[in-house]
Amino acid sequence: MKSVRFVTFGCKANQYDTQVLREALLRRGLAETDRGADLVVVNTCTVTAEAGRKARQLIRRVVREHAGTKVAVTGCLAESEPEILREIDGVEWVLGNGEAKRPVNFLRELGHDVDPEELGIPAGITAFAGHTRAFLKIQDGCDKACAFCIIPAVRGKSRSRSIPELEAEVTRLVRAGHVEIVLCGIHIGHWGLDRGQVLADLMEVLARLEVPAHDGSPAAFRVRLSSIEATEVDERLTALMAAHPGRIAPHLHMPMQSGDDAVLARMNRWYTVEQYLAACDRIRAALDRPAFTADILVGFPGETEEQFERTLQTARRAGFARVHAFPFSARPGTAAWELAGRVPIEVVRDRRARISEAAAELGEAFRRSLDGARETVVLEGFSGLSGRYQRVSIPPERLHGPPPKAIEVVLEARVDGDRTELLGAPLEVGV
Ligand code: SF4
Repeated sequence: MKSVRFVTFGCKANQYDTQVLREALLRRGLAETDRGADLVVVNTCTVTAEAGRKARQLIRRVVREHAGTKVAVTGCLAESEPEILREIDGVEWVLGNGEAKRPVNFLRELGHDVDPEELGIPAGITAFAGHTRAFLKIQDGCDKACAFCIIPAVRGKSRSRSIPELEAEVTRLVRAGHVEIVLCGIHIGHWGLDRGQVLADLMEVLARLEVPAHDGSPAAFRVRLSSIEATEVDERLTALMAAHPGRIAPHLHMPMQSGDDAVLARMNRWYTVEQYLAACDRIRAALDRPAFTADILVGFPGETEEQFERTLQTARRAGFARVHAFPFSARPGTAAWELAGRVPIEVVRDRRARISEAAAELGEAFRRSLDGARETVVLEGFSGLSGRYQRVSIPPERLHGPPPKAIEVVLEARVDGDRTELLGAPLEVGV
């Protein structure tokens, strides 16, 4: 096999896993291509029934369009329904998360006789080619058992990577030119528990980490926590975020799932609405205009109109900058699969639309509140993401040259009817 194509579904952790495999295969001499490869690696997701359907559809299309292509399917779907995948014509290998996470095992399965020493595979990755932001998986697996979630069954218990390994990987990624490192995983608030540590221990190290740039000066970079449970943002972590606003992005994606206690209990979530909102209030009091974003699951079995209304109210009270509202999707193998009271699809669609409408209003209000704030924007072209996870445009005439990777700006909220756009006025030349 000479050429390989990668297709990735799902979360940041999956994208990171693909990058680990990509680096291993390219190191073995395969060339990456977009089409017509000898080998296609499909890294799948099973978080919703829809994610599984899309992956199967793509696999069938690849096999149909490129006779002779061999397909290796990996990721969560390969773990949860290997038999179904093996029956698809053209699928040569179905490799569950165990093999996929160890690139050496993966290569052996594909017939490469690999000596790990000779391969010189470092733990983790060396770059996220073509991106200014890099994902870094700090842990895998989850010890919780939310009723709607299949992930613990396909990724196992929480396992954390060590501080020295992560410190080395952040250093490598920053030296490779990445100016934002997004810490991801399956349940990052549980990072360290299997090692007798807590996430704040890791964040303290990363907050102080100095990485020399190629000219010897300290490289500028920030880290962002991806999804983290509100109840796991403790006082120490909050204090670190407050003390290092340039290094730790003032943005927290805290899955809320529902704003009603009875629904949360049925989901087997471990907090109440009051506890969730108390965490938001505590963090908001400590940081300058932090951005809170959230996942909300609509149409969980038994969710009544009143319970949904409470979710809407709670979302407004939390003041989210953005919401990912997703409809309940019954997955065999989860506790929710057995639950009575499925909400009719048209009701789910209506609730999802109402949440999205409320979220759009909240997003507008949040953007307007940022007028005058000072931010570092990580650019890809003339627009990019601020620390508070807002899209900011820098008018080209303000830059006097090609856009840098990152730039410090003062934000201007430009209101046009119902829409608010954020523009950046550069303060100094970026990195
Ligand atoms: S915390 Fe719940 S939703 Fe998140 S991965 Fe674990 S079981 Fe799934």
